[in-house]
Amino acid sequence: MKRTLAATTIALGVGALLAGASTASYAGVTEQDILNDAKTTHQIVTNGMGTQGQRYSPLKKINTDTVSKLVPAWSFSMGGEKQRGLEAQPIIYDGVMYITGSYSRLFAIDIKTGHEIWEYNARLAEGMMPCCDVINRGAAIYGDMVYFGTLDAKLIALDRKTGKVIWKKKLGDYKAGYSYSAAPLIVKGKIITGVSGGEFGIVGRVDARDAITGDLVWSRPVIEGHMGTLNGKPSTMTGVKNATWPGDMWKSGGGATWLGGTYDQETDLLFFGTGNPAPWNSHLRKGDNLYAASRLAINPDNGEIVWHYQTTPRESWDYDGVNEVISYNLDGKKLAATADRNGFFYVLDRTNGKLQNATPFVDKISWAKGIDLKTGRPIFDPANRPGDPAKGDGKKGTQIFAVPAFLGGKNQMPMAYSPDTSLFYVPANQWGMDLWNEPTTYKKGAAYLGAGFTMKPLYDTHVGELKAIDPRTGKIVWQYNNKAPLWGGVLTTGGNLVFTGTPEGYLKAFDAKTGKELWKFNTGSGVVAPPVTWEMDGEQYVAVGSGWGGAVPLWGGEVAKLVKNFNQGGSVWVFKLSH
Ligand code: CA
Repeated sequence: MKRTLAATTIALGVGALLAGASTASYAGVTEQDILNDAKTTHQIVTNGMGTQGQRYSPLKKINTDTVSKLVPAWSFSMGGEKQRGLEAQPIIYDGVMYITGSYSRLFAIDIKTGHEIWEYNARLAEGMMPCCDVINRGAAIYGDMVYFGTLDAKLIALDRKTGKVIWKKKLGDYKAGYSYSAAPLIVKGKIITGVSGGEFGIVGRVDARDAITGDLVWSRPVIEGHMGTLNGKPSTMTGVKNATWPGDMWKSGGGATWLGGTYDQETDLLFFGTGNPAPWNSHLRKGDNLYAASRLAINPDNGEIVWHYQTTPRESWDYDGVNEVISYNLDGKKLAATADRNGFFYVLDRTNGKLQNATPFVDKISWAKGIDLKTGRPIFDPANRPGDPAKGDGKKGTQIFAVPAFLGGKNQMPMAYSPDTSLFYVPANQWGMDLWNEPTTYKKGAAYLGAGFTMKPLYDTHVGELKAIDPRTGKIVWQYNNKAPLWGGVLTTGGNLVFTGTPEGYLKAFDAKTGKELWKFNTGSGVVAPPVTWEMDGEQYVAVGSGWGGAVPLWGGEVAKLVKNFNQGGSVWVFKLSH
């Protein structure tokens, strides 16, 4: 049965590809549509605007000269009382925008008029445990199906034309703290997902399912000692049991793969980041705690780990290693870059995971003095690890001030890479935290931290900084300072522009080479989502979600005071040039 379906898919794919050679064809999204997404400008069928995640469009009608004429074309409200954080990137296909909203909703919107075609509203389980607002980061599309994951850890495939459910699969037990918020990834006919819930002692995984049937093909737990599966049978163990974890701690070891992944066709590798090891109290788990707080390269055919690079061994500050790995080629090398929660910007050889360079992109980093380029390991400052509570009164270990704060030098908001300027555009935040450890034990469905914290801004003037980073040197070429923490993603274009949003509600455009601010528009609520651009009927469009929320207002401590008066929202804005 499965073989028949796969053969049908391939046949459809070739037909659509031939038809697509002359004019746009919408017989369903093909493998080739997905692999070509970074180059095709009339549709957006991947999260990241290309599976490598560069978020670069060659479009240039909107450019440094014309951007001042950018005006709204339409706006769409997600309505009702569900006005919460909107972190999703839209998908654009066959005249329709697919965008996920708060509380696990998916909307299909006519891209010419902003008229709603259908809405799917997931009925969420009572007692689900999302950590950081009721957000979702976007849908995936393949064939005639559109997919997204829910806060109660289900993966749903819908008919793209009607919004009718085709299948639903369970990604994890929401009662144990599993949830789902990332945009799924489609690679070689499979739908690839991670899991959220690292603060509840879940075990991070990357799963691949047949995208047509939803049947599990392989599963790869990312914490050592756990067994992977392939075609319904045990495959290989992840790492070597107890090599870097003491006792039974690996059984609830965290490493949530909550931000999803990217795929590089040139090396045929999936790149997924893994969250912090659980619990936060690192005195309970002496060792490197592989493969938490790491980047993993995974074989998309069988789920085997090809290489790993651990950004924060024996992580202790909630520096999840989940940030997007963006593939790019420069100076004849196949590279990948990633900006970590821990404040360092890393360049890796993406064929083997070897560290090429690591440079700080925020100030006053306290936990490490630098990264040893020979070993690839951080040079820890032992005085800046929170103290062991077992050594004091047994209740609270020595408190430290740690930089960056646990929400990271960079968090969920994706950066962008321009092959025109050879620069990365990184949304960063300057903040620190008081941090201390406490005793804790694992209990299913309960927060598993063993730590307390209060976040503080580093500067009076601002928290957010959008930075243009030269990956050859790590040097900051320009930066834009924003009063509130930046939490939206970045888009860069052939028009020499960089777009990003602010919690104050603005979508802004900057000169990609100089950082000069050229345009802004207030969307009415905070922008914490990545903008996109595409071409339709000879005109270039830009779209972004607007809806203040996410982790900062919930967990921001003293920083949350900066943003307490920002208005909630839940809408999409679409812009084009006025004539
Ligand atoms: Ca975490």
